[in-house]
Amino acid sequence: MKIIRIDVKKKSIFHDLITKDSKYFLLGARGLTSQIISDEVNPLSDPLGPKNKLVIANGILAGSPFANSARSSVGAKSPLTNGIKEANVGGRPAMMLARHGIRAIVFKNTSDNIHILLINDNKTELIEADEYKGLGNYELHSKLYKRYGDTVGIYSIGPAGEHMMKSATVAANDLEGYPSRHAARGGLGAVLGSKGIKAIVIIPTKESKAPMHDLKKFRETSTPFAKNLAKAKDTFSTFGTSMGMKAMSNFGGIPTKNFSMGSFNDIDKISGEALHELVLKRGGKKRLACSPTCVIKCSNLIVDEQGNHITSSLEYETMCLNGTNLMINDLDSLAYIDHFCDDTGIDTIEYGGTCGVAMDCGKIDWGDAQKVIQILDTEIRNNTEAGKLYGNGVKHIGDQLKAKRIPEIKGQGISAYDPRVMKAMGVTYATTPMGADHTSGAAIVGRIPRQGREYGEYTDIEHKLDLSFELQVYTTVMDTMGCCYFIGPSYENMSILAKVINAMYDLQLTKDDVINIGISVLKTEIEFNKKAGITQDDNDVPEFFKTETSQPKDLKFTFTKDDLKNFWNRLDNYVF
Ligand code: SF4
Repeated sequence: MKIIRIDVKKKSIFHDLITKDSKYFLLGARGLTSQIISDEVNPLSDPLGPKNKLVIANGILAGSPFANSARSSVGAKSPLTNGIKEANVGGRPAMMLARHGIRAIVFKNTSDNIHILLINDNKTELIEADEYKGLGNYELHSKLYKRYGDTVGIYSIGPAGEHMMKSATVAANDLEGYPSRHAARGGLGAVLGSKGIKAIVIIPTKESKAPMHDLKKFRETSTPFAKNLAKAKDTFSTFGTSMGMKAMSNFGGIPTKNFSMGSFNDIDKISGEALHELVLKRGGKKRLACSPTCVIKCSNLIVDEQGNHITSSLEYETMCLNGTNLMINDLDSLAYIDHFCDDTGIDTIEYGGTCGVAMDCGKIDWGDAQKVIQILDTEIRNNTEAGKLYGNGVKHIGDQLKAKRIPEIKGQGISAYDPRVMKAMGVTYATTPMGADHTSGAAIVGRIPRQGREYGEYTDIEHKLDLSFELQVYTTVMDTMGCCYFIGPSYENMSILAKVINAMYDLQLTKDDVINIGISVLKTEIEFNKKAGITQDDNDVPEFFKTETSQPKDLKFTFTKDDLKNFWNRLDNYVF
């Protein structure tokens, strides 16, 4: 496997081989992006300047048939958090890179010119791309299919990335060909924009160069694992993440009206069940895989009344932050908000949080979906002053409007779970090196990291520090493998991963070795953040979560400052 290194200013391209004795050999995806950023980027550097790097990396299981293993991570110093950041994404390109024998792509320096990076069997080249300047992801991808064929894999940025807005995403095309999958969090699209890279286009290769030592042995573990997983997740496959809408409202933990309440009166209008019916009625699609090897297939495709594609996939977090949080109660509006976020290349979570603060300050009326769409399609697309106000995240707009209630941690907007109610999720938000990112350790109701261990009731603080910690370690392992965390960040799955890694790379890793990969990656990230000025003292939630109760549960965030400050001490002596 190799790393491709591109200096966008000098337009030079080098290939580095990853050999068995390389420190990068057992690092992929998040593990590799974080290690390269830690090794090569000054933590005090400007995230949008020439000294930051942007890394796109596959997991170490990419290219294998292991279930849900074809995700890629995008990493850099984040313009939103000013710390280390990784966001991962499904879609076509990860598997295609792995088949080319590419573990990672590293961009350095900055460029005012726009380029495409084209990856073909025998050549990797930068191509001038002025003709694509300013295009939304949808138009860009359709032009790239015309030029390079409709089987290519694509990473790209929309106008928000070109304008270096701090909520900008890196898009990847899905298996249907839509630019619907996004490495969304942390403003990494702005970093790619600073490098002048509009898109990375990967031409399929016929022969895979991905490693595989013993496929038969690999399948002895991976095939039954995949079958059991598909069976266990059958209901989730039907309804997707949106099945969380009604459940979370009933639990009292769904952010509503800029995190002032935890349940929504009109939840039945925008529930997973309502979405399911709409898809069936109009002839949309359910049970779609967003990337190769996925056996869960939780994605959907939403069409209008004439059967025309609006968006794919409409997910829980998008529906919550832009629905309940903004008091918007119709599914079509949410589908169009998702479409315009994908097209302009804006993180739906950060954008919904941003509009929530604006509504709380009286800048937009509650429930005004047309205004929310107009800001995306006109202001952000054209980089107007209003676009800059709304395209740079929750903290930025909160500071500009002198808002009292700003739902952000370490510069990043809080995701779709109220930390006063979902206590362990609140711990994850406060402590992860990634800013308020639920995917770092998604302690939703019912997620058990180790069978037989007691984690307590979701609204209590009892056992929740340990619950969040275990999930964060196992999720870091999943992220380093390139696996979707819906396969289960759990103690039990660490053994499964050890077996398939051993079969793939001819190794003898134990479950503990695999857990130690996660611990080591987290230590690297925490250390980078410390040097960047983000310390354990910064582990906290906004004050209003401690002083205002969330209704109807009547709960506050009650962990102490010391609980959060000492959280990562567990990394040195935890009994898993
Ligand atoms: S389970 Fe869902 S998010 Fe995960 S890889 Fe499959 S389709 Fe994508």
